[in-house]
Amino acid sequence: MKKAVYIRTFGCQMNQADTEIITSLLQDAGHAMVSGEEEADLIVLNTCAVRENAVEKILHHLDRLRGEKRRRPGLLVGLIGCVPQYYREKLFSMSEGIDFLAGPDTYRRLPTLIEQAAGGARPVDFSLSTGETYAEIEPVRKGGVGAFVPVMRGCNNGCAFCVVPATRGRERSRPLPSVLHDVRRLNASGCREITLLGQNVNSYYDENCRCAFPELLDRVSRAAPDARIRFTTSHPKDISPDLVRVIASGENICNTIHLPVQSGSTRMLELMNRGHTREEYLERIAMIRDVIPGVTLSTDLIAGFCGETPEDHRQTITLMEEVRFDFAFMFYYSVRPGTPAARTLRDDVTEEEKKRRLNEIIELQNAISGERHAEAVGTTVEVLAESESKRSAARLMGRTKTNRVVVFDRGAAGPGDLVTVRIDSATSATLVGTPV
Ligand code: SF4
Repeated sequence: MKKAVYIRTFGCQMNQADTEIITSLLQDAGHAMVSGEEEADLIVLNTCAVRENAVEKILHHLDRLRGEKRRRPGLLVGLIGCVPQYYREKLFSMSEGIDFLAGPDTYRRLPTLIEQAAGGARPVDFSLSTGETYAEIEPVRKGGVGAFVPVMRGCNNGCAFCVVPATRGRERSRPLPSVLHDVRRLNASGCREITLLGQNVNSYYDENCRCAFPELLDRVSRAAPDARIRFTTSHPKDISPDLVRVIASGENICNTIHLPVQSGSTRMLELMNRGHTREEYLERIAMIRDVIPGVTLSTDLIAGFCGETPEDHRQTITLMEEVRFDFAFMFYYSVRPGTPAARTLRDDVTEEEKKRRLNEIIELQNAISGERHAEAVGTTVEVLAESESKRSAARLMGRTKTNRVVVFDRGAAGPGDLVTVRIDSATSATLVGTPV
């Protein structure tokens, strides 16, 4: 029986892109998508397992939906994505009311799993694939100024703290022709910004045409000349001179790179199995800044990883002071069962000390972001308007090619317009300006 389906998406951009693929698969199978839980007779939670609190959030929703199921017998609830891939059948005992479980590589089977669940079974599928990229499936995108284009799935890096290799499997790259087809279609439809996605996007490699990431990025930027091109997430070991040259020469390729470092201490980077030293990371930063004019850099930082000493922490602080990132995602280490770190390392930094170190990192980064943003005051930047500002319909919010958020008086402009803005003031998170 065809369902009215509501999908709630948690976590990363990859999950958002997966939801667009799942929507396409379910619509092709005759199901109808609805925009709220109330109208749905099937609620699907597309989940993230990257941190403990992400999983707690899902269990909280499941508790709430159990009450909803009592109120509406016949309502089905499906759990998909990284949490079921990580916890598997154990979830049935962790929370009642789940009708089916499906991992990130099994979405083609969702119509079958839904049918079986509607018949009273509680089907599961956690098979990981070495080839699945959903390449030919046309995502059903929500519209808006920008679009995500997944170019690869999985990760082979095996960072000690990370669940992704366990939840998303081995790396595989989407065939180049399929990526270019998607990108051309987006450009033709007036999409203004394309973000290439992958857990480790710059280890992309299509062996059929021997195309690595620098060439992919170059081909995408030519296939969509009217759109800005972004990509995420990179691993420092895969940042090559070729890639940096392509970014510098591509008119529509945004001059910003998100380059997670996690720690400033080589001893920690070894324990984390990051595959590079502090010095090698700084060399790559220097190379990037030499070649790409006005490039901005952002990163990921973890405070209090297993065995981190005050000296290791101090090295993270000094690396931040040396690189002066525009922005950073900052967390303290939480053990993820099943990861190499959980199996082999002791989580010996106290929670109190983890929080103290994280606060020090956050304070420093906010100060640096504020200083870097203040340098933009008085300059004129090109902004791609994305939406109305949260605070006022008379203002628009958009971003520069360097990924800085700008809020400005809307005037005659609207989402999707490129607007030249003079920056009048700045905070650590936002630039404020006037169209000129
Ligand atoms: S590169 Fe990123 S996704 Fe891959 S294992 Fe490391 S942290 Fe996880």
